[in-house]
Amino acid sequence: TATARAERASKIYRSGEAAVKALDDVTIDIPAGRLTAIMGPSGAGKSTLMHCLAGLDTLTSGKVFIGDVELGSLSDSQLTLLRRERIGFIFQAFNLLPTLSALENIVLPAALSGRKPDQGWLDTVVETVRLGDRLSHRPSELSGGQQQRVAVARALASKPQIIFADEPTGNLDSRSSGEVLGFLRRAVTELEQTIVMVTHDPVAAGHADTIVFLADGRIVDTMDDPTAQKVL
Ligand code: ADP
Ligand code: ADP
Repeated sequence: TATARAERASKIYRSGEAAVKALDDVTIDIPAGRLTAIMGPSGAGKSTLMHCLAGLDTLTSGKVFIGDVELGSLSDSQLTLLRRERIGFIFQAFNLLPTLSALENIVLPAALSGRKPDQGWLDTVVETVRLGDRLSHRPSELSGGQQQRVAVARALASKPQIIFADEPTGNLDSRSSGEVLGFLRRAVTELEQTIVMVTHDPVAAGHADTIVFLADGRIVDTMDDPTAQKVL
């Protein structure tokens, strides 16, 4: 499990004459073993920040670190390797393979990655997802919440140092959202996983250890332990 850090991060998108400053001198520390939510209005720079932290996009200026590795110091192939081996992704669309069972969807990517998966860890992940006999079902036979839990378990299976989740409850009703958030919470608390999620959903953000609020490419507020503050 690892920290992530952005240091004086700026990102400018240019197209012809126009330039948009999507990130404006952002410094942020994502602590290890915590669930961090990034909130803010549409266009605030949330996706840009997450993509730059995850090495999916590059900054215009500033630095990004995963653990003590500065992503700007890596070659393209080193960066691809780091993304594959150390970073997990969860998207709004579950992206499960339709012909595989839930269990196969969870364990196969880790098995195919070339790194020897740790069977004890896989067993723990499969237990923590709490799918019971639905593990043998195909995605089409599962609810949206169950499918997203499979996607979360798949991300966990390869034991990444950090997981980035883009609107993980965006497509789900409140009951399914609750199941997924409960699982994300257990992944952090019981498995010591580091998770960063971008969300519009105050209920989802309320499950985080820290909420970072972005607006116009800047961090405008940070709130620790939102559940205890009961402000959401
Ligand atoms: P959020 O995720 O908070 O909605 P984004 O990071 O997607 O915000 O976008 C931040 C700003 O950068 C917005 O003004 C958006 O229009 C702009 N932007 C994002 N991606 C691109 C792109 N590929 N090209 C040009 N502008 C972009
Ligand atoms: P948005 O947040 O703008 O709606 P998406 O969440 O669909 O966009 O995708 C965000 C970025 O993540 C895209 O740039 C895409 O190339 C990248 N991406 C999508 N799926 C994967 C994946 N499985 N592995 C790595 N990168 C991915």
